[in-house]
Amino acid sequence: MLNVDLHSMSNIPERDKKAVWHPFTHQKNATLPLHIVKGEGVYLFDTESNKYVDAFSSWWVNLHGHANKYIADKIYEQAKTLEHVAFSNFTHEQAVVLAERLLRHLTDQAKVFYSDNGSTSVEVAIKMAIQYHHNQGKKKNKIIALKNGYHGDTFGSMSVAERNVFNKAFEPLLFDVIHIPVPIKGMEDASLAALKKALEDDTVAAFIFEPLVQGAGGMVMYEPSILNELLKECKKKNCITIADEVMTGFGRTGKFLACDYISEKPDIICLSKGITGGFMPLGVTSCAQFIYDAFISDDKTKTFYHGHSYTANPLACAAANASLDLLEKPETQKQIEMLSAFFGKLETKLDNHKALIDCRHRGTILALELKTDETTSYLNPVTERITNFYLKRGIIVRPLGNILYFIPPYCITIKELQSIESVTIEMLDLWPNV
Ligand code: PMP
Repeated sequence: MLNVDLHSMSNIPERDKKAVWHPFTHQKNATLPLHIVKGEGVYLFDTESNKYVDAFSSWWVNLHGHANKYIADKIYEQAKTLEHVAFSNFTHEQAVVLAERLLRHLTDQAKVFYSDNGSTSVEVAIKMAIQYHHNQGKKKNKIIALKNGYHGDTFGSMSVAERNVFNKAFEPLLFDVIHIPVPIKGMEDASLAALKKALEDDTVAAFIFEPLVQGAGGMVMYEPSILNELLKECKKKNCITIADEVMTGFGRTGKFLACDYISEKPDIICLSKGITGGFMPLGVTSCAQFIYDAFISDDKTKTFYHGHSYTANPLACAAANASLDLLEKPETQKQIEMLSAFFGKLETKLDNHKALIDCRHRGTILALELKTDETTSYLNPVTERITNFYLKRGIIVRPLGNILYFIPPYCITIKELQSIESVTIEMLDLWPNV
């Protein structure tokens, strides 16, 4: 048993080290975590009142800044009224209003199914797609996915992802998936050909993809036109298309969804991260009417037997409705445009920098691929050097190996973006000696 003064605010990082196990963290050599005591707008504050620009939106979840008063008040109001109710044969206003509002944004989607994080939204999507076929007496259970993908840390979401350091230990337990090349520039034909070939297998149930930007795989980007082609092929073969918009949703790529850049529409959409503006965990899996219809039967075995204790938690739904209020404001849309234009210009400026292999941008996301001697990407030790370089200059980044990226909250100002730009140029000019 730990013997500590639970009310003392001091030594939190040391106490953390004794009691806590952190996600995605190499525990043995981990430095003491930074104790954050406050968030305000784009800034996070430590115990010494140092402030840091949160340039990665706290794992891509924060849209409107930290401790946003409007969202906080809406959660508080909801908490005083109804904090939670089982979402089986009960409902509540926040969940219904949120579903209605989301469906207004999601073209050709008919129903919203709630869960509580990105991985579960993907898990639900995979199960929906497979049971859709099963309910019609068809034995289709193979999934096609893009190489280099990341969809979460549950077994289904790990299975459809790239096989790598994240899931190595579990590889024997992951189900088989047909991985096709990512349709990056120059690989479009290979990707389309591989998809066509995979679709010849009539046990294929679904195709899952991160639309336009593969996040954890290194902010790998591809064009809407080829995604449109891929979806067209799937539709011809009654292969369910699943867009994992967990990272790209809620304006990150410049439009509400990354799939808003294409005319073919996915059959199932996964949402999480930005959905509550970064306040509460919530997952959504939406589907087209024809998918839902396959579960409507007198036969009870055709029911979708899936749910979580915190499904459609009212506080999370209240946060999501409040975040949508802010996102739908013209001022926020202008900020998204400003951010996209700023990163567009910065991309052009940095494109030929000697320290870079590549520089790419889509909407509010800018990624810089740094030259490095190391081969493995995520485990690349340059990550810590880059992180520390920025931290010392008051900016929080979390590179993916040698991929440095920025995905800040939409409330960031031009001045704050310019400070990110000047620190970045300083870093690149020094590279690799940072
Ligand atoms: N899908 C994508 C595209 C993601 O980027 C992530 C998380 N980074 C997930 C799913 C899993 O989300 P969560 O961490 O909330 O489980």
